[in-house]
Amino acid sequence: MTNKVIPYGRQNITQEDIDAVICALQSDYLTQGPKIVEFENAFSDYIGVKYSVAVSNGTAALHLCALALGIQEGDKVITSPITFAASANCVKYCGGDVVFADIDPTTYLLDINNVRSLLEKSPKGTYKGIIPVDFAGRSVDLEAFRELANEYGLWIIEDACHAPGGYFLDTNKKGQNCGNGNFADLSIFSFHPVKHIACGEGGMITTNDEALYNKLLMLRTHGITKNDSLYHNSTDFANGTLGSEKYPNWYMEMQTLGYNYRITDFQAALGTSQLKRADEGIVKRREIAKTYDNAFKGKGYIKGQSGVVEGHAYHLYVIEVENRLGLYNYLKENNIFAQIHYIPCHLMPYYKQFGWKEGDMPNAEEYYKNCLSLPMFPTLRSEEQNFVIEKVNDFYKK
Ligand SMILES: *Cc1c(COP(=O)(O)O)cnc(C)c1O
Repeated sequence: MTNKVIPYGRQNITQEDIDAVICALQSDYLTQGPKIVEFENAFSDYIGVKYSVAVSNGTAALHLCALALGIQEGDKVITSPITFAASANCVKYCGGDVVFADIDPTTYLLDINNVRSLLEKSPKGTYKGIIPVDFAGRSVDLEAFRELANEYGLWIIEDACHAPGGYFLDTNKKGQNCGNGNFADLSIFSFHPVKHIACGEGGMITTNDEALYNKLLMLRTHGITKNDSLYHNSTDFANGTLGSEKYPNWYMEMQTLGYNYRITDFQAALGTSQLKRADEGIVKRREIAKTYDNAFKGKGYIKGQSGVVEGHAYHLYVIEVENRLGLYNYLKENNIFAQIHYIPCHLMPYYKQFGWKEGDMPNAEEYYKNCLSLPMFPTLRSEEQNFVIEKVNDFYKK
């Protein structure tokens, strides 16, 4: 039917997006201007959280979270092996130790029971935090994780890169949006083009905690503040003369070791424009997922993410199959570029040097043998999706 390549994910840039970027490029600010605050406010409204801090990418967001929460040399932090490496790497950036806990083989999410048994096996205080991941767009039950974290005095960074617009139902059957700050201390998002909202590069941290919010703002810009209520040095010093009562306009203080993790105004403008279509995108993703679900129902050779999936944001549509390599190659011959999410993080050579080895995470390793992410993005046309379904079924009929 079509010679065009069908990727697993793809951004959608409209004329409105292009106009928004051009408008930012023609304004007085390319960076550090009003478009950033605009994007942050729009994002806070969308998620239903108090504070949002826009940064240069999702990895920078994770690093700033790790810094703001004060991860130090030797601190132990628990995360999932089935995630993008950055979820774990942020702990290493600060000198901490990553402890992987296995996934639930039906939801593919970090299994809270495995986290609990790790915590029970060590004296309280051994672990500092948990980084659960809303893998594929399916929210972890953060209410349950919060309860466990409180019991052990841990913080939570929710890696919500796959799940802007996703939610889970709490014990009162109320929807809790990913990143809304009700359970996690900090949540992070990415605006890489394969994610829901594209900025080219970009990221966001959300929180309801004002103190953490202020720390993040400083850390994002070299550890510098321009808020005179926070200054340490005297007004006399700042003015260079005695008897001066006000800080001069040029004055600023670097109070902590920060970074330059800012996003630009033209990227933020693109983000705000994309955000307007975020709900539409989720509706489309859920329709695509439903079509796959129906098409594969009763097909013994396909297993998917099972259980309750209300609130799933479907960054990915993952299946588990036998002869995954064969299917992957067959789809590729037909210009369908499926992808693997993820090679288990603990078996990356970098992490193996810390003692992780095959057999440590049996569910994650078994999952990796069979998993495949099929094309899933809002502009996937129904002919294209039907072609994908047909090719998957053809492969197993042969
Ligand atoms: C994309 C992604 C990141 C990193 O985001 P970047 O913007 O690419 O740095 C982190 N965690 C997960 C789960 C991701 O999918």
